[in-house]
Amino acid sequence: MKLVILGPPGAGKGTQAESIIEKYNIPHISTGDIFRENINNETELGKKAKGYMDKGLLVPDEVVIEIVEDRLQRDDCKDGFLLDGFPRTVQQAVSLDAMLDRMGTKLDRVINIEVDPKILVERAVGRRICKTCGTTYHVKFNPPKVEGVCDKDGTPLIQRADDTEETVSTRIQVYLDQTTPLIDYYKAQSLLLNVDGEQEISEVFNAVVKGLEND
Ligand SMILES: [Zn+2]
Repeated sequence: MKLVILGPPGAGKGTQAESIIEKYNIPHISTGDIFRENINNETELGKKAKGYMDKGLLVPDEVVIEIVEDRLQRDDCKDGFLLDGFPRTVQQAVSLDAMLDRMGTKLDRVINIEVDPKILVERAVGRRICKTCGTTYHVKFNPPKVEGVCDKDGTPLIQRADDTEETVSTRIQVYLDQTTPLIDYYKAQSLLLNVDGEQEISEVFNAVVKGLEND
């Protein structure tokens, strides 16, 4: 099963990714992780990427693609993988197709977790965190027993600075602007599996599995 997972920030993509890799026994290829790994191990690719990052520049597509290709060629990806964080643009998707073609394979499905932006904003804006133990609450969906304090240790709960309505809306809009053409690209290839991400976590996962197995 060679898969890509897409979803806006706050849609629960990470949680679904964990369940998918466990069920299908495939590696989770998160671009953030493989970047960090290459940089920590001081590989040639890692040094190249770090050179741009140290200058405050975006790592160019060709370096990102090289890092992904290097990772996908390892043995554990032979029978499948779940790509997360790549591709982000149509250009990167075209490169991924070419890369898989060189490897004599292709993508099976692109999972797209859909959540109404209004709901994403509501989820993020109501989030409260305990600085002492890291427990996350939500004022509406998962409130603490006593308003404003952690159930476990009584610490006053805080709201993360980037969980304001304005920041979250901007984050989602940036994602949508970037990803809409990518979604169209995969739709045109009949690879897209749209999943309603507004359901319970377990229902979202059931919908993913059903979609993957109905091919
Ligand atoms: Zn706490």
